[in-house]
Amino acid sequence: MGDLVDPFGRVVRDLRVSVTDRCNFRCTYCMPEEGMTWLPREEVLTFEEIERVARVMVERYGVDSIRLTGGEPTVRAHLPVLVGKLAVLRTAAGPVDLAMTTNAATMRLIAESLREAGLERLNISLDSLRRDRFAEMTRRDELHRVLDGIDAALEAGFAPVKVNTVVQRGVNDDEIVELATFGRERGVEVRFIEWMPLDASGRWDGRAVVGQDEIVARIEEVYPLEQMPARGAAPADRWRYLDGRGTVGVIPSVTKPFCGDCDRVRLTADGQLRTCLFATDEFDLRAAMRRGESDDELAGRIERAVATKWAGHKINQIDFIRPKRSMSQIGG
Ligand code: SAM
Repeated sequence: MGDLVDPFGRVVRDLRVSVTDRCNFRCTYCMPEEGMTWLPREEVLTFEEIERVARVMVERYGVDSIRLTGGEPTVRAHLPVLVGKLAVLRTAAGPVDLAMTTNAATMRLIAESLREAGLERLNISLDSLRRDRFAEMTRRDELHRVLDGIDAALEAGFAPVKVNTVVQRGVNDDEIVELATFGRERGVEVRFIEWMPLDASGRWDGRAVVGQDEIVARIEEVYPLEQMPARGAAPADRWRYLDGRGTVGVIPSVTKPFCGDCDRVRLTADGQLRTCLFATDEFDLRAAMRRGESDDELAGRIERAVATKWAGHKINQIDFIRPKRSMSQIGG
């Protein structure tokens, strides 16, 4: 038992687990319409394998936060069973904070069972409030289902429910204030995310990134804001509405990277441990487990992986290399 410390002194506290590479949406900034190659079922970690990696990280290294993601996590059958297995994990200091990132298109059907299984927090992706644009951006005409999914999440008692919005210039940046208004009215924190070069189609263009300063300035023109204290290891910088109507966040991965405070590692759906979204190396925990390695051996692999964590990603620098896998294949 001890901390998992990387070469730059950062302590790993947060594990992102992708439960599937498949998705029921095809967001243009993330995936192509067709042509994704899905992992064969036998290559995807079983719930028992995910639980094992999570248990080693929580019980040996005090990792106290787990977020399920994908692909779209809710397309994985029997997801509440996995949630139940992870919700009972405990560090020496207490229970694990268990959250999920989802597009919420089917949340009305599963919110209660996820909540009962022990899931606490939800981040729901919503990039437009206009039906046509939503359908264009996600390639699915399902805005009504996502909005209903947000209501279902609130009704089921998830706290907090946050909304993630990837902002792209000329695509949805004219909706920043409308989306902020939506968050204020629904009592959910909207977190605007700068678009990152992780789309499978390779369409990312730095000129389409709307940076944090511009996002905040646009909101502030309508709703005066006050910046909240430093974020710690969390990815979002946050602001409070001065009229008391909640908070809003920005994840400035491109214009103000927060790698110096990063406490995350990622487990892909096929069991590869990654120390950064942009890492070019992966560590094969699935093969290790299926070879019958012990928890000690698995822990050794995790430590060796963390020992390779970079100081930071290099978006916008000359030596930036795009990772081979895209966001949905890594787990956002
Ligand atoms: N399907 C789920 C969802 O929609 O939230 C979970 C997986 S998705 C990859 C996780 C988050 O990554 C979503 O909020 C999505 O909008 C965001 N995302 C996807 N591609 C991105 C990119 N290239 N840059 C920034 N965020 C991205």
